[in-house]
Order: sequence, then C-alpha cells, then structure tokens
Amino acid sequence: MSARRSGLARSMLGWVALLLCAGGAAAEAPDAPSVEVLFEVRLCADDESAAVEIHVEQQGGQLRRLRFALPDERMRGFEGDGEIREASGEVVWVLPRLGGSLRYMAVVDHLRDPAEYDARCTDDWALLRGSDLVPIATATVVEGSVARTRLRFRLPSGWQVVTPFEAIEPRLYRIDRPGRLFEAPRGWIMAGDLRVLDAEIGSTRVTFASPAGQETRDRDRRALLRWALPVLNEILGTASRRWLVVSADDPMWRGGLSGPDSLYLHADRPLIAPDDTSPLLHEIVHVAMGAEAGPESDWIVEGLAELYSLELLRRAGALSGPEWERALAGMRKEAAGVESLAEGPTTGDATKRAVLVLHELDRRIRSVTKGDASLDDVLRRLVEGDREPLTKDGLQRLVESLSGDSMDSFFGSLPD
Ligand SMILES: [Zn+2]
Repeated sequence: MSARRSGLARSMLGWVALLLCAGGAAAEAPDAPSVEVLFEVRLCADDESAAVEIHVEQQGGQLRRLRFALPDERMRGFEGDGEIREASGEVVWVLPRLGGSLRYMAVVDHLRDPAEYDARCTDDWALLRGSDLVPIATATVVEGSVARTRLRFRLPSGWQVVTPFEAIEPRLYRIDRPGRLFEAPRGWIMAGDLRVLDAEIGSTRVTFASPAGQETRDRDRRALLRWALPVLNEILGTASRRWLVVSADDPMWRGGLSGPDSLYLHADRPLIAPDDTSPLLHEIVHVAMGAEAGPESDWIVEGLAELYSLELLRRAGALSGPEWERALAGMRKEAAGVESLAEGPTTGDATKRAVLVLHELDRRIRSVTKGDASLDDVLRRLVEGDREPLTKDGLQRLVESLSGDSMDSFFGSLPD
C-alpha cells in the first residue's frame, strides 16, 4: 500500500492564484506567524470517536475559508464560530476575521474489510491516522500569511501518545510546514497503554510502538532496519529525521500501510516473507519515497516498494546473490499469468509482474548509460521531486532525462 499525501498544498496554491487574479488578496509580511492554528483532540471521547476542535487565531482574516471533504459519515456534529455550511459530501467553514473555533466528532473505528480494522479506539489504546481526525481540506488564504500549527491531545488517564511529529512538550506537537497556512495532521498516531522502543539508526530516530502486552516483534524489526536503513539512505542520498512504526494484533488489518513519516504493520507480519520480500522494508520504501500513484499507475509505486524491499536485503547482505536470483525466478513463475499492469490497486501476482518490469527497466538504464545511471537514480529523483502523482508517462520522461535516450520501445511494449 502506498503513502497518500493530501492535495492541500496544491489546492492552497490554486486558491492563492485565484484570489490574486480577483485582486482580493493583500500581501502580509512573512516574518512572524500571523495565524495560529491549534488542533485539540480528545481521543476515544466515547467508545469509538474522537472529539476534535480546530482553534484559529488571526489578526485580519488571513485564513478565510476551509472546505472539508467528507466522503462518508465518519465526521459529524459540526458547530462553532463563523459560518458553517454543510452540504452533501462537504462542510465549509467561513472563519471570523479574528479567528474562532470549529468543533466536531470523528468516528475513529473503521473496518477495512468485514472483520479487520485500519483505525480503532479500544479501552486501552487507539491506533489511527491523522486523516481519521481531520479530513482533507481546501483552504482559501491570503498570500504571504505565515502560520504556526500545533496538535494537542487530551487523553484518558494513564495514556501516552506517539506521533511522527516534532514534540514541543508531552502531548503537544508542532505540525506546520513552510508555505502552508493550514496543515492538517497526517501519518500514523498511536495512544494508550503502550510499549515504546526508540532507536537511533544513523541520523534517523525510529520509534516503535504497540499495545502493552501484545507481541509485535519490535526488536526484530529494529535489527532489520539497522541493516537496511543505511543502505536505503545511501541510495536516496538523504535520511529522514524521524519515523514511527506502529503495530497491533487482531482485529487490526493483517497487512501494512504507510503514511507520511510513519507506517503500520500487523503484529504477525514476518520480517521476510516466503518469497524473500520484506513487508517492513516494502512499507519503509513507501514512506521514504512518499510517491502517490496517478491513474492506472499503482503498479509503479507498488513495484518499486517490492523490488527495493528485495534490493535492500541483498545489498545489506541478508540475501545472497543466488538467493536473490531465485526470488526473482519465483516471481517470474507467479507473474506469468498476469496480463494487465494498470487494472485497479496492484497486489499479489500483479506486484510481482511490476517488480520484473522495473528490474528490466533498471537493466536497460544501466546498459544505455554504460553503468552511469540506474533505477536508484529514478528513486532518488522521485524523493527529490515535486511529488506529482507518478504515472507511466512521468516515469518514462524521468528515465529518458536520466539516460539521455528514448525509452519508447521499452514503455511501448508494456502491457496496459
Ligand atoms: Zn505497497
């Protein structure tokens, strides 16, 4: 599964441009925060929900309007200051000039399939993503405004919380980003009676968290990351400062899911699967890449994550050359019946087919550039790039700019 990023920044830029065209925007000095945003979250306020308050303080209407997308019924009971308009599938909050508060309830519990959750409040712990608390929003803003954005948790007695965000004090986090006036919390969050394991791996602080009393292999995972993370950082030429790995047992979803600077992995997922790929490293590559798939292009993002989960094991010395070759041969057998790459979410044998295509692409790039470039450079460019959703055409352009040669024959021969 891939890391999904909010389209908020792009939406905000769009609105800024719109306001400027209309001549309605007044530039503010970008020196000091002119807007203060505080998300206050009371987790598990009832059996399955969180109570959320968004407080905004501003001097002169810099944050004008927030349009929240509500594709399902998980957030409800909106009330607060200013004008609140609810329509099908969205809530629009027109803020008072000096700010105000918006309050609502967010149902946390969410079934990913009939019996498995990908977000949950229990009596003892909660596991969820920031997007379970604050929906995707489009902001209408005045250009040049600067925001300070923080996230505070109110928790049941005896609970602690872990997040991928920078802590200011216990239960209070800074989540603002340069250039964004309304930055909602994203990525995985876990709270409750937890077992927490912190590790410095190179320059990355990795926090592993799971419910106290559950066996979730965090020490095994730490060991694997000590081998593999330096290899990944060398490929990417950069290292994240902070990652969070959360885990829990049934009835949580028996898979892995990545988010910004964080990932979830079910307690039972092995370090290395029978096909020699690694569910943990697959999600780690997603987190590091941060790439979102464009239409019919899920296979590229999933294929890269799966191929590099194998690559990291090989380069870290956990898989020998012959073992790596056998893993690839096994994939060739499994993927033989796969006729389409572009159909829907990519899983199972289609992912294996994607791995083989990308492995062949790596071979082509190395051959054309006489070893000067490889798929590693593609991965590095993706991490450095502008985070546009990845498509087959975008991948071809990227590869051609690296290799200086046409890749029409390769990309033209791929199955649809
Ligand atoms: Zn994936």
